[in-house]
Amino acid sequence: MLTDYRVRQREYLLEISRALTAQLNLDELLHMVLEAATKMMAGQAGLIALRSPNGSFTIRASHGLPRALVPYFEPLLTDIPDDADRTRFHIPGLADKLGRVVAGLGLRLQQVVALPMSIKRELIGVLYVFRAYGTRFTADDRQILASFADQAAIAVHNAQLYERLSQEKRRLDAILEYSADGVMILDSAHRIVVFNRALAQLSGWSAAEALGRHHDEVIRWARLETHQDLKSAVAGGWPLPSARPLYVEGDLRRRGGGTIGVGITYAPLFDRDGRLVNLIANVRDITRFREADEIKSTFISVISHELKTPVALIKGYADTLLREDARWDAETMRESLMVIAEEADRLNQLIDNLLDASRLQAGALPLEMDQVALDALAERVARHFRTQTEIHEIVVNFPPDFPVVEGDEERLEQVLNNLVSNAIKYSPKGGRIEISGRALPNEVVITVSDQGVGIPFEEQPRVFERFFRGARERHQRTPGAGLGLYLVKAIVEAHDGRIWVESNPGEGAAFSFTIPRRQTS
Ligand code: ADP
Repeated sequence: MLTDYRVRQREYLLEISRALTAQLNLDELLHMVLEAATKMMAGQAGLIALRSPNGSFTIRASHGLPRALVPYFEPLLTDIPDDADRTRFHIPGLADKLGRVVAGLGLRLQQVVALPMSIKRELIGVLYVFRAYGTRFTADDRQILASFADQAAIAVHNAQLYERLSQEKRRLDAILEYSADGVMILDSAHRIVVFNRALAQLSGWSAAEALGRHHDEVIRWARLETHQDLKSAVAGGWPLPSARPLYVEGDLRRRGGGTIGVGITYAPLFDRDGRLVNLIANVRDITRFREADEIKSTFISVISHELKTPVALIKGYADTLLREDARWDAETMRESLMVIAEEADRLNQLIDNLLDASRLQAGALPLEMDQVALDALAERVARHFRTQTEIHEIVVNFPPDFPVVEGDEERLEQVLNNLVSNAIKYSPKGGRIEISGRALPNEVVITVSDQGVGIPFEEQPRVFERFFRGARERHQRTPGAGLGLYLVKAIVEAHDGRIWVESNPGEGAAFSFTIPRRQTS
């Protein structure tokens, strides 16, 4: 009986609407909608076209049609009116279009009904149902389908929102996870709910271990540089009422030992009623920043010390010589003037080194290339230094026929000067200093060795750093700016060479560098 059929139809409609609202997966939802719609209309196939943000329609789901044939139904999407009102909704020539499509495909679909899916008068899609036999869709059919389409539209809209939201969430998760800074999100009870990869690396805690724990269990300070941490700030009333981010800096205890310098910015997140929902913490490794800071302060203290000593000496001797109440014999005059001249040279040298270092910072070191006989150069440098020391024996040891290399002679002399003057400076009890050369097929190796105090193992990797000075040197205030080896390394590398040091602490040090032999064919 017809009425019976209608009753069942309505019951079915109610049941399916309930199922639809629970479904958040858009693809599955569209499928359910289509299946229900075709069944209710006693149809054989159906399609759903959804409107994309640019306004055009695309087929998003089909039912009862071979998948490969679905694209052929696209002509049915043309001329869809913008009017979401279902009483006026009409796609012109729809039956003809279907006729043409199915004729080409050899399908037996004869009737079509299309109804708008709309939300608040806005058209979000169109639902099509097809029948294979000749019975026309009645006004009643249209009405049933229309109210179903409206229900379906709400569910589709929800699923679309949900899809967009989860996409957004996935994108945010990815940003958080791969952010170069550590990121942590706390709930209102300060329990960790998000802990990203960078933070796992910084802190030594894996995300799995950290999640769910209280903030204070994971963030433990070995030393604080700011006057408060999260706990004391919260005790003092943070974040209300200022709601300003809180910055905490210091040395963080890493899990499994050691510490790391970090700065953490905590930003509060409130709900509409002003209740704290989350704290978002950004954790930054400030090691490099501290290093730069340290370089700056060493620079200032070293330079002021290095400048002051010669200036004080020059001033002292000059003042003495200028005293009008005294007469100086020629010998004293000469000695004083020698000191002044030597100290002026030292100042000059320091200024040159500083200029070279800042030039290096700014870019490359320009070289004036020429043919250089390193054996003759070593001899010259040795001769110069022999006049400056009586307790050191300076020997030069090169094989005969030592090859000439290409290089900047003045700069290479600066390298040898630096290495030999260090060898003298760091063997205060004297000893043998040797400049030796070896020729290998592709390069020459020059070594300057001494029998001095040597270099502690932990300092050996750092001696070529800018402004680096050994702990002992800083302690004993041995003059020096920690620039010599930095410049030496830069010059050697500008020649495409390498430099390294070998030293047994207490037994002396040997610095070696290579200069490539260019094949002159
Ligand atoms: P400076 O001599 O002005 O301190 P350098 O850059 O020439 O600066 O050397 C850096 C550090 O390397 C020195 O402070 C010293 O600790 C160490 N060093 C350099 N040469 C020697 C050497 N021949 N023997 C022992 N230590 C050395």
